[in-house]
Amino acid sequence: MEKKELLYEGKAKKVFATDDPELLIVSYKDDATAFNGKKKGTIAGKGVINNRMSNRLMDKLEQSGIPTHYVRELSDRETLVKKVQIVPLEVIVRNVSAGSFAKRYGVEEGVVFDRPTLEFSYKNDALDDPLICLPHIYALGLASEKEMDTIKAYSYGINRFLKDFWASCGVTLVDFKIEFGRLPDGKIVLADEISPDTCRLWDSATGKKLDKDRFRRDLGGVEEAYAEIMGRLEAADRG
Ligand code: ADP
Ligand code: UDP
Repeated sequence: MEKKELLYEGKAKKVFATDDPELLIVSYKDDATAFNGKKKGTIAGKGVINNRMSNRLMDKLEQSGIPTHYVRELSDRETLVKKVQIVPLEVIVRNVSAGSFAKRYGVEEGVVFDRPTLEFSYKNDALDDPLICLPHIYALGLASEKEMDTIKAYSYGINRFLKDFWASCGVTLVDFKIEFGRLPDGKIVLADEISPDTCRLWDSATGKKLDKDRFRRDLGGVEEAYAEIMGRLEAADRG
């Protein structure tokens, strides 16, 4: 598959055209940002880990019945994906209080919910990705009711699957952000990435953070944490 022009360079990935108009190549960078780009840095080896982890998880999700954009891994950092029209929403699922939830409601981090929560942010850097409710999503024409029903069902399904998978690795899936897109025929699929950049993953025994919060909060041991969480996934896959 031939890599053609750079279509977009984001904070964590580059997106290239290919000779097939329905396929893209994404290339994962080591660049790390937080707080809507206000904090910048590098996490050595992150691109390789996020590429591989996202692909493994999407492959598992696909086998569990969730359609995804994943086609195949091309190299350490590059993956072939189906081109989608991104639904401009960050879909966030939570099992345990942390981050903006803990801050907004004045609760401690680490409170385990009886059932998962689901929320949406409008993907718009200029507006700082504001929280958005379903009627506003419809008012802005970001997605239809039918599409949102699909997105909700997939999101809870993805959570059930990933929560169980990470539990088998001795890891608690605290929360995560996913994105969906539309294929040319209108079908909704999971897109973007699932990685320690987009999930909170805590060691179940010790509570140690094995995700991007180590970078956001200057906790140190960032590269080691990414390597450790990838190692846990690979150990689980080896059985
Ligand atoms: P950001 O845009 O937030 O800086 P990235 O650096 O991860 O994020 O850039 C990747 C971009 O590619 C994101 O805007 C994401 O929505 C988009 N994207 C992810 N998967 C696909 C896909 N299959 N087709 C088209 N665009 C995609
Ligand atoms: N998240 C993300 N991208 C964002 C915002 C959040 O991947 O732009 C992820 C984040 O890693 C966490 C979850 O979504 O796993 C919930 O994040 P939260 O709303 O608590 O925001 P934060 O505390 O990261 O600002």
